[in-house]
Amino acid sequence: MRAVQLAGPGRPLPLVMREICKPAPGQILLRVLACGVCRTDLHIVDGELPRLDRPAIPGHEIVGEVIERGAQVERFGIGERVGVPWLGSTCGDCRYCRTGRENLCDGARFTGYHIDGGYAEFALADARYCFALPGYAPQQAAPLLCAGLIGYRALSVAGDAQKFGIYGFGAAAHIVAQVAHFQGRKLFAFTRPGDAEAQRFALDLGAAWAGGSDATPPEPLDAAILFAPVGALVPAALRAVSEGGTVVCAGIHMSEIPAFPCEILWGERRVVSVANLTRRDGEEFLALAPGVPVRTSVETFPLERTNEALARVREGRINGAAVLVMPERAARSS
Ligand SMILES: [Zn+2]
Ligand SMILES: [Zn+2]
Repeated sequence: MRAVQLAGPGRPLPLVMREICKPAPGQILLRVLACGVCRTDLHIVDGELPRLDRPAIPGHEIVGEVIERGAQVERFGIGERVGVPWLGSTCGDCRYCRTGRENLCDGARFTGYHIDGGYAEFALADARYCFALPGYAPQQAAPLLCAGLIGYRALSVAGDAQKFGIYGFGAAAHIVAQVAHFQGRKLFAFTRPGDAEAQRFALDLGAAWAGGSDATPPEPLDAAILFAPVGALVPAALRAVSEGGTVVCAGIHMSEIPAFPCEILWGERRVVSVANLTRRDGEEFLALAPGVPVRTSVETFPLERTNEALARVREGRINGAAVLVMPERAARSS
């Protein structure tokens, strides 16, 4: 099969031929239909997450069709369409796994990082961590599997905040904006200063206000979610939320947070992070999304243009999400 795999930190990803493996017990083999490109993939490419000792295949927003089931797989029939998220497997036994916090499991293995992901024509996945997908086209569904799930978890952590801000208006934000609008919350969108196109995009998706991340919102916020991996935005967001407000850091990696005066944290303001996802987040969000309905804006790329897709995500030059789409003809013998 054709696949795109990691080279050294910061280096372009080569297109290679890889063997298609047989599913082990508990695994399903998928023909990949589409795979989202996530900012986390950039952090992996850049070597900002702990290094791997093998050339992994990135991609953790996989929409695929089941073509073979390993032993002991009870879910999903041949031909069924499933989604594979970042959380690839957990130990099932630690104190986090036993208390509904499998997203924090020390033994967790992640798709497109520890486990080869969806920048390929075929992929293996542990069936217990896959989701049945609602009636979306593959490229429309792909961004739901990380941008959507992480956004949903971040929104949950923000609690019942009625007025909330989003810093960084990319793939996750464009999905959260629709859910927040559906729930009757008032959204304030912060983009790169001067990015009029992203601000217009946010207003189109129901934001009450849009401005640069250096601007003060017209009214104090109950919560703010940071999708941009910029630590300097944490003090900015703390200044934008009122007493009792929450600042949620939703990215897996962020530049250093600069020192800030205690008075902007005072008043029971909180800074929290959101890490990974649980299967419950996925089930809840994927049940909610079609009813909103969440519509994803996507720009599609073939596998051979993966590096271009990554560069566009890095530059923030995608309105919505970048998605790799695989050719229909991908045959198992290739
Ligand atoms: Zn565990
Ligand atoms: Zn992701």
